[in-house]
Amino acid sequence: MPAPLTPDAPRLLDALATGSAALLQRRFWSNGVNQLLEALGEASGVSRVWIFQLLERSASGVLQDYVFEWVATPGYRQLTQKRFRFFTTAIDDPEYADMVTRRARGDAHTCIVSQLPNGSLREHLESQSIRSMVTVPIMLNGQWWGTLGFDDCEHEVAWEGPGLQALTIAAELIASAIYRHQLNSRKRQVDLLQRVAACGAWEINPASGATWCSSGLLATLGYPPDYARLPLRRLLAHIVPEDRRALWMLLRHCCGVCNSSCRLDVRLIDQQGEIRWHELVLEANYVSGGRLADIAGLAIDISQRKQGEVQAQTEAEFDELTGAHNRRGMVRYIRELLDSQKCQRPYLLLLDIDHFKSINDRYGHPAGDVLLKTLAKRLAGELRPDDCLVRLGGEEFAVVAAELGEAQVLQLAERLRNCIAEDPFVLNALPGIGGTLNARKVSVPMTVSLGVATMMPGGSVGHCQSMAIAQADQALYIAKESGRNRVVAYWQR
Ligand code: GH3
Ligand code: MG
Ligand code: MG
Repeated sequence: MPAPLTPDAPRLLDALATGSAALLQRRFWSNGVNQLLEALGEASGVSRVWIFQLLERSASGVLQDYVFEWVATPGYRQLTQKRFRFFTTAIDDPEYADMVTRRARGDAHTCIVSQLPNGSLREHLESQSIRSMVTVPIMLNGQWWGTLGFDDCEHEVAWEGPGLQALTIAAELIASAIYRHQLNSRKRQVDLLQRVAACGAWEINPASGATWCSSGLLATLGYPPDYARLPLRRLLAHIVPEDRRALWMLLRHCCGVCNSSCRLDVRLIDQQGEIRWHELVLEANYVSGGRLADIAGLAIDISQRKQGEVQAQTEAEFDELTGAHNRRGMVRYIRELLDSQKCQRPYLLLLDIDHFKSINDRYGHPAGDVLLKTLAKRLAGELRPDDCLVRLGGEEFAVVAAELGEAQVLQLAERLRNCIAEDPFVLNALPGIGGTLNARKVSVPMTVSLGVATMMPGGSVGHCQSMAIAQADQALYIAKESGRNRVVAYWQR
């Protein structure tokens, strides 16, 4: 029997050079792989070169698909045969089991069929008239992705040395082409996801300070999508300082728990200074030993949702007619005021329009509405931005004033009374009365009475508020009784 042939290594290395150029130049790895298989097939003199992709592996068998093939002559073609479409091979032969184990480990396998022990592997190869075979696994990220195989149906070839090494390099080249293709696909998927989901992705390595932002996030922040790299400080400066503090607190909490994820709504400022609400979804990743490896996540544009929330809050907490707070808004204002500890003793001013019923009766309800609106505007004009103007209902208003002394709050009450009484209100036309009556201006003098009380913290906000309203109401009653258009403080009764 003649000795087995040995592969022509220099020819194989030449073929590798030609074939790899084709593989690297093509945009899709599959376009170049056929040329590589052809070059290797011709240089090795084998009958067939093939690639199987591994789809499933279990203890009892492997499911593979025949994905590429080069044949020396058409008679060797197998790719088109139905039995090689998604075919399962049972692992019931020790020889075959050994080959599978080697492939999964990333090791090449060679065999001369006549030297194989009897078993299903030998039968299987003989059924394809194969005399010798070499297979090299294609490993992707350390995982067995598939197999590059060479069948020789005419010669017994002993694959070893540089010839075998050339095939291993070919498998690695194919693996890197697949990997590049997968990365490109993933990038496209991420880009698509960003476009569809209006979100950006980011990653921070706390140890090195290195950052990565997806093109979507860069665009959101006002940078070109291919901007090289944002330094960590610069990236963080795009978060509104108050929200940045909240983020640090959350991170401190989040980083204490292994691989935990958390969420936070923050305002991002772009290069032009425009602010948009984003939801940050972040995950802290740890490596063994509990070291924080990186923090990564998404930034999802939620400005529309926030707008809706603000609108809903406005509708729930503000009076539609005058724009002043309503009772619910007042409760929140007082709660936040007391929580902030900015003010220990706020004052409540209760304000009621004098004889408003007769104004309504005289000019009509719609005109009364216009007057209520104008009155609220005048009152707001006398207040500091931090004071809270409330329409408690009808023609009754309240003001919660913080950080004022007793004398100052009485001055404020007096100022409010005066700003209504000093100048009559003007109705440009009388709305609602047929629209024709009195097209000229009408002057409407109005006055208000005020009762002032101190809000005593302690107990619930609701209790504190109703106590103050009750006391201010008593003072207001006295103001009305003693002639209206005046201020009475509860502590002065
Ligand atoms: P007093 O000086 O004692 O407060 O007299 P008043 O007429 O202002 O008080 P009263 O409680 O008798 O009447 C309040 C009036 O306020 C009755 C109602 O017509 C009017 N009013 C209440 N809510 C509205 C409103 O939303 N729009 C208008 N136009 N009028 C309202
Ligand atoms: Mg009134
Ligand atoms: Mg009233």
